[in-house]
Amino acid sequence: MPDTYPPSNLAAIDAAHHLHPFADMKKLNADGVRIIQRGEGVYVFDDHGRKYLDGFAGLWCVNIGYGRREIAEAVARQMNELPYYNTFFGTTSTPATLLAQKVTSHAGERFNHIFLTSSGSEANDTWFRMARVYWSAVGKPSKKIVIARKNGYHGSTVAGASLGGMKFMHEQGDLPIPGIVHIGQPYWYGEGGDLSPAEFGLKVARELEAKIDELGEENVAAFVAEPVQGAAGVIIPPETYWPEIYRICKARNILLVTDEVICGFGRLGAWFGHQHFGVEPDLAPIAKGLSSGYLPIGGVLVSDKIADVLITEVGEFNHGFTYSGHPVCAAAALENLRIIEEEKLVERVRDNIGPYFGKAWAALAEHDLVGEAVSIGLMGGLQLTADKSTRSRYEKPDQVGALVRNHALANGLVLRATGDRMLASPPLVISHAEVDEMARIARRALDAAWKELKS
Ligand code: PMP
Repeated sequence: MPDTYPPSNLAAIDAAHHLHPFADMKKLNADGVRIIQRGEGVYVFDDHGRKYLDGFAGLWCVNIGYGRREIAEAVARQMNELPYYNTFFGTTSTPATLLAQKVTSHAGERFNHIFLTSSGSEANDTWFRMARVYWSAVGKPSKKIVIARKNGYHGSTVAGASLGGMKFMHEQGDLPIPGIVHIGQPYWYGEGGDLSPAEFGLKVARELEAKIDELGEENVAAFVAEPVQGAAGVIIPPETYWPEIYRICKARNILLVTDEVICGFGRLGAWFGHQHFGVEPDLAPIAKGLSSGYLPIGGVLVSDKIADVLITEVGEFNHGFTYSGHPVCAAAALENLRIIEEEKLVERVRDNIGPYFGKAWAALAEHDLVGEAVSIGLMGGLQLTADKSTRSRYEKPDQVGALVRNHALANGLVLRATGDRMLASPPLVISHAEVDEMARIARRALDAAWKELKS
């Protein structure tokens, strides 16, 4: 142990030894890393004691807010009783089994099983294999291709990043792997042209049908999409989109997979995003809000249609992780779900704080720099624009987004920038006053960025 904890030169140690995800390391080491030391409610505090309203819930995940003693206590109890055991070879632990029961109880009648993982990426790799195993088991082994979307995000593992449609990720490591193809995204603001949102929603949904025709229905296993695209910039599909996708998947006999890693556990004001949009997927990867990020855990909700085949036809699914159903992570998740239920956080997002946030967020559209301000539940996207009337974009979108993000940070608010879109997803426990504070600081950051852009 160093003499003091934490050591005073933590940033230098970090620069010397720690490679960060999704970070330009040369720039980060030159700028110096931000060190977050403590969290309470919707706030986090850095090593200089500066307070930030975390408008992004960590990474879309701290749904119940920071500093909940109940979780720490549940974790300590489980650590003392049984810190680890696996779920392979015919064993389980109490929290793993009870968690499987609890999660599926919120997922609707068709979901009675879950396969547990440690992350959203692993969950995506899991269903990707499971879907192919399913089709082979029902006598359609040629159904292997998965159709995903440009600008989707499904994780950083090889299958996850391939399913995702992020070009800058595909460019590193020769992705996507074979058997994964991408169609367009329902991003009306950026790509809708002269079509109305409703027309555009139908048009991009029908790209799925065209792609199935091109590939041959007998070769397509599944279609995967986030109910609302998160990392792409909180892209809320036009209302015509999901019903048409659902119709096509049913008509063409391909599995529908909704990636609920962000949208699950109340973010949209429903337990799962697919419930909000009224569609019934066959498989659904989850993570993040499952434990509110307190410990790493994810999984795949498996509908009876697939589970029955896995159980009765496949027998052994040769897949799993050392930490599948980790007892301490499962205990944290169970306590997290107990809190979400007890505090009625899902209903709160749907009926109370979601609409309140929506109104405050929508008002930001008045700003000269904002082309659209959209939200759903407690998820908001803000399009920065060079000219509102023409929906025109800045030449260097990343710089505009970063400018607003940095001004927000300097004023005590964490927002994320994805190119020229600002993203918000605060903890579900955020109060009305804290929503007002968020909107106030966001407006101040927009003003400061606008002034800088004009000069
Ligand atoms: N799917 C979606 C929709 C996500 O947003 C993410 C993470 N942001 C993932 C999958 C990957 O999850 P993880 O980072 O836990 O692997």
